[in-house]
Amino acid sequence: MNPADQMATGEPYDYLIVGAGFAGSVLAERLHAAGKRVLIVERREHIGGNAYDTYDDAGVLIHPYGPHIFHTNSADVFGYLSRFTEWRPYEHRVLASVEGQLVPMPINLDTVNALYGLNLTSFELESFFASRAEPVEQVRTSEDVVVSKVGRDLYRKFFQGYTRKQWGLDPSELDASVTARVPTRTTRDDRYFTDTYQAMPKHGYTRLFQNLLRGIPVLVNTDYREVIGVIPHRHLIYTGPVDAFFDHCYGRLPYRSLRFQHETHPTEQFQPTGTVNYPNDYAYTRVSEFKHITGQEHAQTSVVYEFPQAEGDPYYPVPRPENAELYRRYEALARARTDVTFVGRLATYRYYNMDQVVAQALATARRLLQPEAPLTAPGAAAT
Ligand code: FAD
Ligand code: UDP
Repeated sequence: MNPADQMATGEPYDYLIVGAGFAGSVLAERLHAAGKRVLIVERREHIGGNAYDTYDDAGVLIHPYGPHIFHTNSADVFGYLSRFTEWRPYEHRVLASVEGQLVPMPINLDTVNALYGLNLTSFELESFFASRAEPVEQVRTSEDVVVSKVGRDLYRKFFQGYTRKQWGLDPSELDASVTARVPTRTTRDDRYFTDTYQAMPKHGYTRLFQNLLRGIPVLVNTDYREVIGVIPHRHLIYTGPVDAFFDHCYGRLPYRSLRFQHETHPTEQFQPTGTVNYPNDYAYTRVSEFKHITGQEHAQTSVVYEFPQAEGDPYYPVPRPENAELYRRYEALARARTDVTFVGRLATYRYYNMDQVVAQALATARRLLQPEAPLTAPGAAAT
């Protein structure tokens, strides 16, 4: 039923959902499938949240909000999404531009051999790392994670500059979990992820979202604040930034933003892998070429440069103790609102990948539909 007809019946929606990203769309699908009346309100002009993809002027499929690579260890999450998309197997590979060479990232056997002109075996690399590692009593920060494993030289070459650019903070000021996302290997495995399931939606994310939202009304170009007073509903599901919901009453939660510079080049291939990282040079952190990721064949190619910035749309929560402290105050307000459920990366201030958001949304749907169900999401990749 469209929103106007629904309002004409006078019957409230069971759920008004703010945001059509993974959190909002998965919840909408689950609740709709259970026979609930659901309406989504989305501020942007499209569905999909940050995972939205579209064809650019040249006809290349791009991710306007930066490269999104799907990976998960959760059979539940992969099985659930497989009902809405076919997949193209894809294992992401990243090279880092360091001292004039392009070398594998995560750091592996080939990275070290290329960088230092060595010919080590995996076994020897273990001793190499051990001889350079600086033990710390407790691994607390993003500096500790790397320095305690591979030492200061590799830390400086691959992590310190990149992290300072990406977050505007030194790794010593960020939780260990941030750089711990990128492992160090003694093998030649050059995949960025090692998850069991690694694949891209065969016809893109937007098609996946269209399938998720089949039969569910979505009001795009609409901030929920403009309509909340006139759309009767029993319960609100909110997937935007949690501090904005509460009018920043405790002050702003820090988020990191990005400026995306998209370019199309009149050549089939721009760079050798899906992403090249630039830890030490330039104002951007990385360049991604979509055709590697999507598998599209096209005579031209499109790439995106990511320039981190403090201002702009909130993309990343910033994991550090003082921010967790401030979030806990907002979380207490959120818990007290029994009429509202907060879900997703910005609403729960967690540096979640797509699969983790899907797992969180599935668990939340189970709890809403069956209040005694547990809150935690089984099997979500804790990457
Ligand atoms: P979002 O996708 O942000 O959706 C929230 C929606 O709510 C938005 O569309 C927003 O417009 C809407 N909204 C907010 N406020 C309002 C309001 N007041 N009224 C109406 N609507 C509102 N994850 C991976 O697994 N793999 C990757 O490779 C990957 N790469 C990434 C690269 C970048 C640059 C970024 C920023 C993220 C990446 N992610 C990746 C993470 C992924 O984007 C998120 O996990 C996921 O999109 C979060 O979904 P969500 O629904 O919580 O939030
Ligand atoms: N990182 C780094 N150098 C790299 C890649 C990553 O220092 O070449 C650090 C950096 O702090 C980054 C974090 O590891 O923000 C997580 O990297 P990931 O690629 O997972 O970031 P995302 O894709 O979420 O932006």
